[in-house]
Formats: sequence, structure tokens, C-alpha cells
Amino acid sequence: PFEVLIVGGGPAGAAAAIYAARKGIRTGIAAERFGGQVLDTMDIENFVSVSRTEGPKFAAALEAHVKDYDVEIMNLQKAAKLIPARTEGGYHEVVLENGASLKGRTVILSTGARWRQMGVPGEEEYRNKGVAYCPHCDGPLFKGKRVAVIGGGNSGVEAAIDLAGIVAHVTLIEYDSQLRADAVLQRKLASLPNVKIVTSALTTRVDGNGERVTGLSYKDRNSGTEHDVELEGIFVQIGLVPNTEWLKDSIALSPRGEIEIDARGETSLPGIFAAGDCTTVPYKQIVIACGAGSTAALSAFDYLIRLPAT
Ligand code: FAD
Repeated sequence: PFEVLIVGGGPAGAAAAIYAARKGIRTGIAAERFGGQVLDTMDIENFVSVSRTEGPKFAAALEAHVKDYDVEIMNLQKAAKLIPARTEGGYHEVVLENGASLKGRTVILSTGARWRQMGVPGEEEYRNKGVAYCPHCDGPLFKGKRVAVIGGGNSGVEAAIDLAGIVAHVTLIEYDSQLRADAVLQRKLASLPNVKIVTSALTTRVDGNGERVTGLSYKDRNSGTEHDVELEGIFVQIGLVPNTEWLKDSIALSPRGEIEIDARGETSLPGIFAAGDCTTVPYKQIVIACGAGSTAALSAFDYLIRLPAT
């Protein structure tokens, strides 16, 4: 059994493992895919103090740093169920999909999230070649170019406002007959000269030249007609889904399925902490996930040293 058992091996989990191991306590980390979303990222230009790196390189560095310490890494292990300890200070149990189970006196949940995809032809092929999901990360790559934002909820409209200040032109495409973002954001968006808003539109295809995105097609849901838009980039903003389906019976989640945490990374259950994109933390970024993972590990240590001696 572990004193700190971490579930999820992205930036949040790796940071938690390093911070826990540096306290000299028995630490284990189980991950479906060590590295997490960073493995699917091309360029990273906003990890403070590193001007530019690549996703797979960053993931390898995370793993190497964790391996500097005495941490048991259990890669390719998917957690299926969390059974909280029955008594304070007892062991929590994490049951893996393969039937095995791991025990931790504290558990740090850092299973991250995934971007909801449109599921249209060309999206997968041109991922990172014009199809993007994170305006904070990839917005500057489209400086002076034409882009579309798919989705008219808060994140889509925020992305469109953000991008309008960087790119030449933004087309915002919403499936519904009206935008769903807060009124104040909609007013701001409507005031921008280089933004076009298209509602009742279903994106049907991402077009490209084999190397990069060159446009998209959408269907007008009222008239049924198809339209083509020439552009260089497409930001898909139809939701970030936390990887918490396996936790819904055991821990408090927000209506969007995010693990509810406080400023110390504490969840609704004593001895169980959470960090990164799977939580209610505002803004989902690598540097933020690293900070949150460190916070959760320090909180777990704080919890452990307050337990009565057994
Ligand atoms: P994740 O990275 O999602 O890691 C989650 C971990 O949990 C993985 O190891 C996963 O395999 C594991 N896991 C999930 N479910 C289970 C389970 N049931 N059992 C066991 N393990 C499980 N951020 C930036 O700051 N800069 C960028 O340039 C940038 N670019 C991005 C580009 C792309 C294409 C994407 C998708 C994201 C990008 N981000 C960027 C966001 C950034 O990657 C995330 O904010 C960050 O990875 C979150 O870290 P995390 O540890 O919380 O979760």
C-alpha cells in the first residue's frame, strides 16, 4: 500500500508524484497513458521558463523527473472504481479495469480531460495542422490568418473574442439558432469588426490540401444549403469533458462532471485530493495543472502528518 496513490500521469499527476516523493513517503502513480494530453500536443510555448518545446519531449521530461525519485510508476493502468476508506486514516482502494486493486492512505485524482470533437471528416487528419482546441495555446500561431470557432457557448465566444485580437478574421459557427454565451460576452463579440457570427449551422467537413487546413463546410439547418468557408484554422470549442465517469458514485462532482475541490485540492472525501483538468480549477493549462498537483501533494502530506499514530 501507498501513503500517496496518484491516479493519472499527466502534468498534474507528475507534479504530485515529485512533491510527495520529496517528502520521503511511499508514492505510487497509476496512469492509463503516462504523459496525458501533452502527448497529443505539438508546440508548447507557454510553460513559464521554457520558451518553446514539443509535447512528446515535455512528456518524456515529466517522466524522467518523476524517475529521479523513488516513485512506483504503473503505466497503462486504467482505474475503474474508487472505494473510499471506511474509517478516517484507513486505506482507500482504487480498483483497476483489469481487476487488480491499489491502496493508498491518501489518493490524488488527476485523470485530466479530453476535448469534445466534432466527429466530421478531416478533423482527425488535420488535428494540429489547422484544427486546434486551445486558443491560449495555439492562438498566436494563427496571427494575421483567418479562423473559425466552432461553438457559441461561453468558451466558444471567449475564444472568438480572444482570437479576434490576434487573427485577421473569425467566423463563429453555432449549431443552435442563437448563441448560448453570457449576454455580456455576446455584446462584446458583436462589437468586434472582424467577427462574423453564423447560427443554425452544422459543420460537416474540414477541408485541407493534404498538409494543412484550407477551409470548412457547413450546412445551413434552416435552408439545408451547404456553404464553404476558406480559412487557415479551426478552433473547436464544444466542450472539455473531464475523465471522471468512473467517480460519479463516489465523490462530489460539479454539474459538468468536474471533481469539486477547494484551494487546497481537497475533495468531498477526507484523504482524497484532486488536481488539474479533471477538477473545478479555472483555466486548464499545463503550468496550472503542475501547480495544482503540487498543492494536492502538499495537502496530502499535511493530512498524513495529522493522523494519529497507528
Ligand atoms: P492530462 O494531461 O489529461 O492527464 C491525465 C492523465 O490521467 C493521463 O495520464 C491519462 O492517461 C490518465 N487517466 C485518465 N483517465 C484515467 C483512469 N480512469 N485511470 C488511470 N489514468 C487515467 N496547455 C498548455 O499549457 N499549453 C499548451 O500549449 C497546450 N496545448 C494543448 C494542445 C492540445 C492538443 C491539448 C489536447 C491540450 C493542450 N494543453 C496545453 C492543455 C494541457 O495539455 C492540459 O491542461 C494538461 O495536460 C492537464 O494536465 P492534467 O495532468 O490535469 O491532465
